[in-house]
Amino acid sequence: MQNDVSKCLISREQIAEKVVQMGQQISRDYSGRELVVVGILKGAVIFLSDLVREISIPLYIDFMAVSSYGSSTESSGVVRILNDLDMSIEGMDVLIVEDIVDTGLTLKYLMEILKNRKAASVKICTLLEKPARRKVDINIDYNGFVIPDEFVVGYGLDYNNRYRHLPGVYVLKKEVYTS
Ligand code: 5GP
Repeated sequence: MQNDVSKCLISREQIAEKVVQMGQQISRDYSGRELVVVGILKGAVIFLSDLVREISIPLYIDFMAVSSYGSSTESSGVVRILNDLDMSIEGMDVLIVEDIVDTGLTLKYLMEILKNRKAASVKICTLLEKPARRKVDINIDYNGFVIPDEFVVGYGLDYNNRYRHLPGVYVLKKEVYTS
């Protein structure tokens, strides 16, 4: 499996440090309020698990699953809700937690859906963003790392549901997804 990745882009130590900072910032920004943290399955699960333990204000955790890439590495542009939230978010401050913003299509669509449910506010928190590939204009409120246009895996991010458990963020070798 280690042979499938070409290099470590972000180490587990760098991620851990960043997650602490992000959690502290979110706690300050939402001080005195109550937050609904919405994790986007499955890629954001590991990031969310670490992040919420660095947030010191009261919060709820809920999840949504949306279709994005299937087994390819290119966005189809079609976003479908596979699994919806359990809780109502009406009047709540919502923080969407995502693994990576690539074209931005997924989050643009999700923002609209959640705003239509009359949330008091909807903000975005992502571990990674690839600005080079953005197709739509979205405002990212909290971002961990800006990365180049490479297909990455690890720390929750997969290719064909593999590599999610790798502790850092790694570049996947092209031959793995082109062969
Ligand atoms: P977007 O709608 O912004 O194009 O795509 C967001 C989703 O695409 C992410 O949640 C993630 O599932 C997937 N994605 C985009 N870039 C990468 C990448 O470099 N590696 C992996 N594993 N998934 C990616």
